[in-house]
Amino acid sequence: MSILPIYLYGADVLRKKAKPVQKLDDSTIKLMYDLAETMHKANGIGLAATQVGDLRRMLVVDVGAIESGARDEDEGKPREYETESKVLVMINPELKLAEGTITMEEGCLSIPELRAEVDRPEAIQVKYRDVNFEESEITADGLVARVIQHEMDHLDGVMFVDHIGKTRRALLRSELKKIEKGEVDTSYPSISSVEV
Ligand SMILES: [Zn+2]
Repeated sequence: MSILPIYLYGADVLRKKAKPVQKLDDSTIKLMYDLAETMHKANGIGLAATQVGDLRRMLVVDVGAIESGARDEDEGKPREYETESKVLVMINPELKLAEGTITMEEGCLSIPELRAEVDRPEAIQVKYRDVNFEESEITADGLVARVIQHEMDHLDGVMFVDHIGKTRRALLRSELKKIEKGEVDTSYPSISSVEV
């Protein structure tokens, strides 16, 4: 298992569309473990393969941490409590159903120290392949639904700042520029676009 560096806003790979995983092989299994370990190292509650520069449609969500009260805004900060490890691995996720709309604040390990309110469906149903590459389905709401949607976006090269209005985004422009120029410190290994 390895802790992989997380690509930061501005890196080209974050804008690419990831490709479906065809089969479960050693490299797919290694990626699952690496994603989970990298997410834990960064105290994230979700991570998409795209964020570590791997364009395979795979994401992980730390459901255990969310259930024990981890919040999205604590990403990148050390957790003050122990969480039971319960990682949801989703391969080739596909949105089957989305209901309602809710506004929640989001952050992202690829966009350190920046948060914004984003509107998204409140409840979702997603089809995916699990750790054994078997077809599975999940119905989720609350923070779990939010994180899944945020990570699924990464697989299509979309980031949460793309969902906020132009005016609000203009206010964030200088902070985004700083991240692009690598003028940001993260507590976890990261790669800014100037280092790519
Ligand atoms: Zn993200």
